[in-house]
Amino acid sequence: MNRILLLSDIHANLAALEAVLLDAARTSGFNEVWTLGDTVGYGPRPNECLDRLRELAALSVTGNHELAAIGSISLDDFNPYARAAAEWTAGVLTNESKTYIDSLPDRREIRDFTLVHGSPRSPIWEYVTDPDVAVATAGYLNTPHCLNGHTHVPAAIPAAQDPESSWWAEHGEVVEIGAGRWFVNPGSVGQPRDGDSRASYAVLDKGAMSATFFRVKYPIDETQHQMEAVGLPDILVKRLAAGR
Ligand code: ZN
Repeated sequence: MNRILLLSDIHANLAALEAVLLDAARTSGFNEVWTLGDTVGYGPRPNECLDRLRELAALSVTGNHELAAIGSISLDDFNPYARAAAEWTAGVLTNESKTYIDSLPDRREIRDFTLVHGSPRSPIWEYVTDPDVAVATAGYLNTPHCLNGHTHVPAAIPAAQDPESSWWAEHGEVVEIGAGRWFVNPGSVGQPRDGDSRASYAVLDKGAMSATFFRVKYPIDETQHQMEAVGLPDILVKRLAAGR
């Protein structure tokens, strides 16, 4: 088997992460897990999600929410709700979790892929939202393709002018990435923002050089109850059900 489970923006949503792991094992199978940052922040189970990734020996990069949680970046760039959640996360992270976060690079290159949270030009903050941004930031790649998260919207964006096609990826969609240069974003496991509340992930097939996108339902109310129990902002609780 030559399949990589691609995850991003888990955001401390353990119920969503477990649903994705189960669904991916059943539907396509995988022998590696790569994650693209923001495993913590917003959600109620940051340590448990980090532990799960370590158990899976996931190859990971850091995101803005990891850096906020260990005090490496200022919270001034966060909206009030993200900031409240980041402060709560910082207070509950175990020393083991902090050490692990501290060890994460903001960029990795492996085989044909560069892994970043944002973009190769600005690994922590830049949103790759369309082919114009992809073209502009592609010059910072040393590999054919980029794997990125941060937008919370699944997409396969070509680094080429391509006004015809829609690059947002839907459940079941298979994108061939053998030719050209692609920015593949698996969407968000724990806080999707494209109007679909189901957890989002992708599977890379290295043999076929394709990316397949998936959505899976998870018990949203379980995560919402956990958030309420620890006093995370109500707006963050509600948005999970809206998928926005
Ligand atoms: Zn995020």
